[in-house]
Amino acid sequence: MSDVKRITATVSGRIRPACAIQAVAAIMATGPYIAIAELGIMLMRGGPLDAARTWWIVALGALALLLRLCCLLLASGLTHLADNDLQLHLRQSLAKHLSRVPLGWFDDTHSGHVKKVMQDDVLAIHYLVGHAYTDRISAIVTPAAALAYLGWIEWRLVPIILLPVILTMVIYWVQFRGIGQMMSRYNKALAGVNAAAVELVQGISVVKTFGLKNRSFQRFTNASNEFADGFWEMVRGQLSSKAAADLLLSPITSIVLVLVAGLTLAANQKVAVSDILPFIVLAPALSSPFLVLTHTQSEFVQANRAARRLLDVLDLPVLPQEKNQTPRLDEPRIQFEDVSFSYDERTEAIRNINLTLHPRTVTALVGASGAGKSTLAHLLPRFWDPTEGRITLNGVDLRHIDRDHLYRAIGFVFQETQLLHATVRENIVLGRTGASEQQIIQAAQQAQIHDRISALASGYNTMVGSEGVFSGGEAQRIALARTLLADTPVVVLDEATAFADPDCAAEVQTALSTLVEKRTVLVIAHRLHTVMEADQICVMSGGQIVETGRHEDLVARKGIYAELWAVLRASEQHPELVLE
Ligand code: ADP
Repeated sequence: MSDVKRITATVSGRIRPACAIQAVAAIMATGPYIAIAELGIMLMRGGPLDAARTWWIVALGALALLLRLCCLLLASGLTHLADNDLQLHLRQSLAKHLSRVPLGWFDDTHSGHVKKVMQDDVLAIHYLVGHAYTDRISAIVTPAAALAYLGWIEWRLVPIILLPVILTMVIYWVQFRGIGQMMSRYNKALAGVNAAAVELVQGISVVKTFGLKNRSFQRFTNASNEFADGFWEMVRGQLSSKAAADLLLSPITSIVLVLVAGLTLAANQKVAVSDILPFIVLAPALSSPFLVLTHTQSEFVQANRAARRLLDVLDLPVLPQEKNQTPRLDEPRIQFEDVSFSYDERTEAIRNINLTLHPRTVTALVGASGAGKSTLAHLLPRFWDPTEGRITLNGVDLRHIDRDHLYRAIGFVFQETQLLHATVRENIVLGRTGASEQQIIQAAQQAQIHDRISALASGYNTMVGSEGVFSGGEAQRIALARTLLADTPVVVLDEATAFADPDCAAEVQTALSTLVEKRTVLVIAHRLHTVMEADQICVMSGGQIVETGRHEDLVARKGIYAELWAVLRASEQHPELVLE
């Protein structure tokens, strides 16, 4: 089954009857022309006018026009209703499916991709379902009906009237033969110019500072020239064939051709002069739909690509949930049992992790960059599932816990925290719908962001993005307020995130102290204070936990942690130092 067929399967039962009705409308479209042609033939043949027949012809022409209007309304109503339902169905399916896709999939690139799929690709399907199918039917059926009538009148003139259409098809065929190569050159040139532009803009400070201006600029100029060549090559071909098609398919060309050929044949007694008239009247009905066909063709190509992208998202593997268990949430104990995880087949980001997070304790992860701390922390709120081993919450595998229940148990504040385009209140209340104003304010106060929000003209009703722009650190503290309000018994957080704003390090420290109180906490630690206070420190290296213990024990062990500590102690004056 083609991609488009799969995507439109739910409404195909309505598209088919709509196409059939559109076909009737397309046949009826020739009715008024045929009526005019028949009247013309009667007049040209001379003799007494048959009034009854004349009225019949006029009435049938008018009826055809009316019927056509009714059919068009019906067909377009059907396709648009189908399109409406399909868009709703697609957006709902995408949202439902994406809610089950691993959270780790939603990095910046993928989030941008989802936006494109949800908006542009769903819209491309709208053109297909709402317009393209029926337009294509009209573009085929109307000329076919007109040809059938003209063939019945005088078959010898049919090849003449078809000549412009055939010639146009040949021209397009010749042009499209080389289009693949041209398109790939054009796309390559476009990618080149984009890359060069990004390089030039992003690196402008480096380029200027180190005097590479000319080289980088030269690369951009070369890429632009190549793009201009590729663009011109493609457009030149299209322009000339479009100009030729416009000329060939214009009604005047057909009329002149029919007149010349028809009158020549009539002079040789091969055709009756009156039979030429229908060809002149129906010439536009034959050539103009051809342009519609070329247009719908490109809509079909785009819809196919959109359907592929939609299916790619709809076919993304989802996080499995084989059972539906609801472990107790008081005294939450988390256990990592022989947990390994790899992003790809080649390397394991973390290996054989065995770790217990005891209820109401703080476990700090420390280690060099790339040691695997983030990966380990992200497995707890199921950004990904372990490739091997399992993680349990009070003895229940996370994979068996209902999603809502899991997120009632585990809250997180990571670097990629984003605020929604909604009011500040709505952003905070996401953590617990139905929270009172007092609870919201209390959470914001604990997260040290209340004063900043109150200072805004609309306070908690400020729209994030349009009315209020928050710095990275402020946004993180709003996210912190959300997590505080959610009041989950388990919290996973990246400390670097919370300290994105160095100006209020002390306040954030207070906020974090409140957050970790009485909770089971896993923190990617970057600050001496946190590490020294932690109930358990896990030192990570190469994806493994290489040392575990309390601060004093680890210092006494004189291992990696002791080395790290020695370096930090040497700079005790700078408590903001990070552990990486
Ligand atoms: P840390 O948090 O200690 O800096 P990470 O958990 O981020 O370490 O990284 C551990 C390893 O996994 C590194 O080798 C890193 O390159 C790799 N890694 C991290 N994120 C991804 C990802 N999204 N895709 C592929 N590899 C990744």
